[in-house]
Amino acid sequence: MEEGTELLKRIKGEVKRPLPQFTSCSPGWIKFCEYFYPDLLPNISSCKSPQQMFGALAKTYYAKARGIDPASIVSVSIMPCTAKKFECNRPEMNDSGFKDVDYVLTTRELARMIKKNKIDFTSLPEEHYDPIMGEETGGAIIFGATGGVMEAAARAAYFLITGQEPPALFLNLTPVRGMDGVKEAAADIPGVGTLRVAVCHGMANGRKVLDAVRAGNAPWHFVEFMTCPGGCIAGGGQPRTAVPPTDAIREQRLAALYKADTSLPKRKSYENAEVATLYQNFLEHPMSELAEELLHTEYHSRANKLHPLLFKAV
Ligand code: SF4
Repeated sequence: MEEGTELLKRIKGEVKRPLPQFTSCSPGWIKFCEYFYPDLLPNISSCKSPQQMFGALAKTYYAKARGIDPASIVSVSIMPCTAKKFECNRPEMNDSGFKDVDYVLTTRELARMIKKNKIDFTSLPEEHYDPIMGEETGGAIIFGATGGVMEAAARAAYFLITGQEPPALFLNLTPVRGMDGVKEAAADIPGVGTLRVAVCHGMANGRKVLDAVRAGNAPWHFVEFMTCPGGCIAGGGQPRTAVPPTDAIREQRLAALYKADTSLPKRKSYENAEVATLYQNFLEHPMSELAEELLHTEYHSRANKLHPLLFKAV
């Protein structure tokens, strides 16, 4: 909701930030850009990652709604990602007035804890997440796939721009799916024209896209970057396979996410009733003053931290 709104404002010139807009959910990618392409930091969406948005809301909106003192909340996120441990410790990630996310466990660490405690995970009964911040949509699930953030944001952006349900293409944006290193798609949105997007994963592919943007050869409005090949399904914190992960394994993990997306009754973020209530009762609207304060951030060059004999940033 926030990222789609920000994209719309950039396209309309309502915020003075450049196009293409880059996604901001992958902390490995953010740090890479801070080191090697600091001149392109203004292109990165100001939206915090889902982990940090959730943390900031847990200690404000959730605490208020449940009558809990936020000082007594310890937030722990379970992530596919070792870079998320770094991200939660970034000094700027405390807009709730507290450390927004206290601890990050990787899925590998969680799996070890489950095994160590001899919990037969597959025989546990199905349960739903707790209410207020527990409803899910397919748009959230596919964030773990290369191309998924783009597809989820495109679904929301279409609705936010037109006020209408997106056509079938937006629910099955196949040009941005799969393991190709750099993928492109174009889709018509009434009132905007043709929205051009690109998706890349793995930072060698990221460099190709960034060099094109730097050279002024980028036709896109919106670019998704994910550090890990395949996206978070193959993140550095995921359970290890017996043999090194291959693209065949990554493809199977991607297919599992898209299967979960299509099996859900709600596949678009704006259909999430709890998100609607969050805006209605607390944030008011995407990119409101409070949303900007809690859910958005900015990035800083780390180029001066590179060893001058080993690296040249710009
Ligand atoms: S792509 Fe990799 S670095 Fe980025 S959020 Fe996912 S697991 Fe973390």
